Amino acid sequence: MKILFASSEVYPFSKTGGLADVAGSLPISLQTLNVDISVITPLYKCVKDRFSVSDTNLIYNIPISTKTEVAKIKKTYLKDVPIFFVENDNYFYRDGLYTDGTKDYIDNAERFIFFSKVIAEFCLSNNYSILHLNDWQTALSAVFLKKTYNWPGKIILTIHNLGYQGIFWAYDMHLTNLGWQYFTPKLLEFWGNINFLKGGIYSADAITTVSPHYAKEILTEEFGFGLNGVLKDVEDRFFGILNGIDYEEWSPESDRYIAKNYDEKTVTEGKRACKKDLLNSFELTPEIKKPVFGIISRLVEQKGWDIIIDALENILQLDAKIVILGSGQREYEEKLQIIKNKYKDNLGICIGYDNALAHKIEAGADFFIMPSKYEPCGLNQMISFKYGTIPIVNPVGGLFDTVYDLDESKEGNGIRLTNYSSEELIKAINRAINLFKQPLKLFRIRKKIMKLDYSWTSSAKKYLELYRRLIVDES
Ligand code: ADP
Repeated sequence: MKILFASSEVYPFSKTGGLADVAGSLPISLQTLNVDISVITPLYKCVKDRFSVSDTNLIYNIPISTKTEVAKIKKTYLKDVPIFFVENDNYFYRDGLYTDGTKDYIDNAERFIFFSKVIAEFCLSNNYSILHLNDWQTALSAVFLKKTYNWPGKIILTIHNLGYQGIFWAYDMHLTNLGWQYFTPKLLEFWGNINFLKGGIYSADAITTVSPHYAKEILTEEFGFGLNGVLKDVEDRFFGILNGIDYEEWSPESDRYIAKNYDEKTVTEGKRACKKDLLNSFELTPEIKKPVFGIISRLVEQKGWDIIIDALENILQLDAKIVILGSGQREYEEKLQIIKNKYKDNLGICIGYDNALAHKIEAGADFFIMPSKYEPCGLNQMISFKYGTIPIVNPVGGLFDTVYDLDESKEGNGIRLTNYSSEELIKAINRAINLFKQPLKLFRIRKKIMKLDYSWTSSAKKYLELYRRLIVDES
């Protein structure tokens, strides 16, 4: 069993969200289970400028409509996993992965048609038996391999977020070099447009998503983004497997970004030092007697920003401080800035992407706010557990699978909103403030959640089981 894992971002080389975390850790966990696995990903500017990669003699000439684009393959290792990079500076040597900071690159269809074609060629010429694709950026590889090459290998497509499907106008069809016979409702056509993810779903041998609850939700109209019917069509080969956390990267005992390392026994002193440092980083007075609420999130509707912004002034009038790290939609950035100007000493905001600061927030905050409207898996609630930081969540998708209310269950490990509204968020924050006033109870909960194990081991075993099942089905 030789597996190729394809992803448009891989941590630590490139990252905009959780997909990178998964692509940077799941293959390593699979390798420790003796799986022969390699990863393929674009050689972006952020990789080329910061990492040294070696040449291979692999070069592919890729037809894109009537022209030919060249893909050179470069290589490095992540632990012992070979990472292959697709080099084409015209497409990938840019400041952003998908956007110029404000809007999507105009040629994203072409860039990821190219990447998907290279994945297919690389897969064919290197005798892989399983191709594991991730999200719309790689989904078309399944169409190329299954529909045009009749490739006998098996393909798994993992959906990390159904909100992003790779929808482009039909005039981009020529870039695929697929004939119009593929532009059908049971493959690529979606309300007159091309839908890369839909093509991948109909072509893959198995489809997975990143938590069992999200797998159920996206079969419904409410969460299905128009593809619930398509997923129903493939329900017999559609599964939910929860993501894991890389504890080498996210562990307060060894974290190199935080002011003081700590474990379950030293959590109180450790978090106190980290909290001071965190408040300093946001230029807030280090009053550690007030609870600090942290948020690390893309500033997009999915993450609950409508209700956070509605509730924010109310929360800031309570006895609490909030620190926010995120980037995304301009309107949210501007609204946050206006509120910051009114509540200078209780609100810290950092607009941007900052990995070190994300670690400081996980360690220094008492509570982590994550009231997502929908959440395929969510990593930050599981990271929060490890740092003894109590998550406050809207229980959807992976948040439903991982966070149980402290007042409702013996396994309680966080605070759940009872519905998606700013009133519920304020209620939840009040419950947290109340809890913060009971140090012994707080200590017990912190100790308990720090022991929870959301490492990759059990999820990697589930993927391996699926790979094996696909190979067995074939023989
Ligand atoms: P999503 O993939 O939907 O953005 P996840 O919770 O699955 O959400 O994963 C988000 C990952 O990206 C986490 O590792 C989180 O810490 C990180 N992250 C998100 N925004 C930022 C930011 N502005 N700065 C640093 N890290 C961030």
